[in-house]
Amino acid sequence: MQHTWRADLAAQHHSRRASNHWRERIDVGSAQSTKVIVGGRSVLNFSSNDYLGLASHPQLGRAAADAVAQWGAGSGASHLVCGHLDLHSTLEREIAEFVGAERALLFSNGYMANLGICAAFAEKRDAIVQDKLNHASLIDGGRLSLAHSYRYRHLSVSHAAAILQRSEAARHLIVSDGVFSMDGDVAPLTNLSALADAYNGLLIVDDAHGFGVLGDQGRGTLNEQGLRPRGNVLLMATLGKALGSFGAFVAGDALLIDHLLQTARSYIYTTALPPSAVSASLAGLHLIKEAGSDLQIRLRKNIDYLRAAAAELGLNFESSNTAIQPIIIGAPQRALEVSERLRRDGVWVVAIRPPTVPVGSSRLRVTLSANHTFNDIDVLLQSLMVALGEAQ
Ligand code: PMP
Repeated sequence: MQHTWRADLAAQHHSRRASNHWRERIDVGSAQSTKVIVGGRSVLNFSSNDYLGLASHPQLGRAAADAVAQWGAGSGASHLVCGHLDLHSTLEREIAEFVGAERALLFSNGYMANLGICAAFAEKRDAIVQDKLNHASLIDGGRLSLAHSYRYRHLSVSHAAAILQRSEAARHLIVSDGVFSMDGDVAPLTNLSALADAYNGLLIVDDAHGFGVLGDQGRGTLNEQGLRPRGNVLLMATLGKALGSFGAFVAGDALLIDHLLQTARSYIYTTALPPSAVSASLAGLHLIKEAGSDLQIRLRKNIDYLRAAAAELGLNFESSNTAIQPIIIGAPQRALEVSERLRRDGVWVVAIRPPTVPVGSSRLRVTLSANHTFNDIDVLLQSLMVALGEAQ
């Protein structure tokens, strides 16, 4: 028995390595920033989700340290036992106000929020209809719920409508990333919201990569498209990307948030976020508000600069207008080779391969921060030119 297990796993690992799908983990020897220490040397970081450069901002660090001094290191229990601190409620209130929702509810992270939402709202007689390229946590949420699960072609409102038209389910959960994590493109939320209205649907938007980046002062993709989390629209976003901290929230009408608090198992059965993370998130939110739109404007300038300079050089970035700027390479081995070559040049761009992205679309996922300089971007593009040329 023991022998079969070991042999099976070893065979799986062997084939993963042989097909260049083995996942590597790299130790970072410094705080998250546009430059990080890897293997003892400094590299330019174009792989992080720290879009506004807040992860190592001193104000967030100080807020975390002050919270430990006042509230201790751990929250001690789940929210509904005795782990829900005033601090959690303060962050929930401030987030709700920021995104224009009646209420917000904190989750430990975005992965758990998505599992919780899907299972709490979609029951056996319901259907979940979601974009094919949604984040893994939403796909897993669909599997966890007892509802029927359907996936529509990426960004295709007409395919989603055709599925809804045929569906015999009582209620529908229409689920989409706001900004797609591996492509950087943006969901047609206005149209999806109209579909939700037409088919007794609840629209769930996972704005992990839009919150802090798009919309007025970073209020997110819904805001960018003139929408708000209310009525039959629910917003989820993580606090571990642009906000520079850790955790996640779901925002919407009190009725929906109450339902999550009562029934979402990934909310109820886990320890509440530690005070340090909550306090850092509050500091991140305050910084964003105090900056007016400065952080988003700085990031936008970097996005525009990268795209214009890349076009001049003939580099084929995908058509994305967000902080996520992928270059599709195709074969996993070649994506790895280009990424390795870049790293030798002191530039870190992670290679993303299946199953994270569809077979044949292995890519370099370049991410930009408000803290990158134009010079950093020039270095990236020059290194890319060399690396892409050599790996052919
Ligand atoms: N949704 C999307 C679109 C994501 O990219 C991620 C993080 N990779 C998550 C959800 C999960 O968020 P968290 O890291 O807070 O668990």
